[in-house]
Amino acid sequence: MQLQENVPLAPLTTFRLGGPARFFLEAASSADVQEAVAFAQSKALLLFVLGGGSNLVVSDSGWPGLVLKVAISGIDRRSAEEDGKVVFDVGAGEPWDRFVSQAVMARCAGVECLSGIPGSVGGTPVQNVGAYGQEVSQTIASVEVFDRKDGQIRELCREACGFNYRSSVFNTSERGRFIILRVAYALTPGGEAHLEYAELQRDFEGRETRPNRAETREAVRHIRARKGMLIVAGDPDCQSAGSFFKNPVLTEQQLEDLNKRAAAKGFTVPSYPALEKNHKVSAAWLVEKSGFARGYGFGHVGISSKHALAIVNRGGATAAEVLAFKEQIQHRVEEIWGVRLEAEPVMVGF
Ligand SMILES: Cc1cc2nc3c(=O)[nH]c(=O)nc-3n(C[C@H](O)[C@H](O)[C@H](O)COP(=O)(O)OP(=O)(O)OC[C@H]3O[C@@H](n4cnc5c(N)ncnc54)[C@H](O)[C@@H]3O)c2cc1C
Repeated sequence: MQLQENVPLAPLTTFRLGGPARFFLEAASSADVQEAVAFAQSKALLLFVLGGGSNLVVSDSGWPGLVLKVAISGIDRRSAEEDGKVVFDVGAGEPWDRFVSQAVMARCAGVECLSGIPGSVGGTPVQNVGAYGQEVSQTIASVEVFDRKDGQIRELCREACGFNYRSSVFNTSERGRFIILRVAYALTPGGEAHLEYAELQRDFEGRETRPNRAETREAVRHIRARKGMLIVAGDPDCQSAGSFFKNPVLTEQQLEDLNKRAAAKGFTVPSYPALEKNHKVSAAWLVEKSGFARGYGFGHVGISSKHALAIVNRGGATAAEVLAFKEQIQHRVEEIWGVRLEAEPVMVGF
């Protein structure tokens, strides 16, 4: 590994903003990861683990310690099926969508609706990536990690990952403890494509035959492109971290209060049942109905012209502008709707 100094992080993120890393290493193997951690420890440096940089807001001053980019590659299909599933062991540094493409080509179901999500395989367990009715927690069999607590490499089974809506032990109770090296996904050979999501169903309306996995993948990518949620070179709406806010999960009582406020204005809030007795509410709806329409501008940042939930860098934006805009949105939504929105991207170096 070659130690680099003062490496700009903006080009390594989809938001394309923020300052440099004081030190930077790229790990192509588990041994590299171990070596990098030892280096950070020996110099008492703070360590940040970077994947594809698609869920980050890096501060304008950057990261004062070591940024370790995990670049472990490899997509290996186990030779024998396990409980009727085909298991793929995938290096944390593989681009996520390359794996989805290979899984679909191998006629395996389970991740087709997660097509087009940017970032690395190692980033997917962290916030239990999900879209169009699928989440990686449904297919992850185990996660191989380097445990910074005792310096051991271990395998965490699915249950040990504590998956929930946009969360896991990796971004909550054990944040910063594990460096993900490899992820094992158990997929269904010859399985049908998952078509539960209404927007996806609409895309196939009028069709007599059930779409296969490859067609579903293409439809998902098209829908994402329409929303600026697919990284397309030259599209100014995808210079973002994707959805900036999580969909709030409300109790019955909180939903009732929100519904009353909405009814007083002649609106109906889009919501659906979630996580036993709770309700998930559309954050995009709350943002839009608080005066932040698509295309809204705020200095060098703004709302995507294709999706109300994405804050975009319109060119030359600073992290400080993103944060100021985020706070303005959170404040206005809370004032009007009584709901506090929680940011989804990871804040680095603040
Ligand atoms: C246009 C766009 C669309 C998006 N759509 C979706 C979507 O539909 N659904 C969704 O869930 N997300 C979506 N996202 C968010 C993002 O793509 C995912 O969260 C992705 O999995 C992040 O992976 P990454 O490799 O880029 O992680 P990074 O952004 O590099 O890092 C994110 C977090 O994961 C940690 N991390 C990364 N790699 C490792 C590792 N190997 N070991 C330990 N920790 C690690 C980092 O330390 C950081 O805390 C979207 C983002 C964009 C820009």
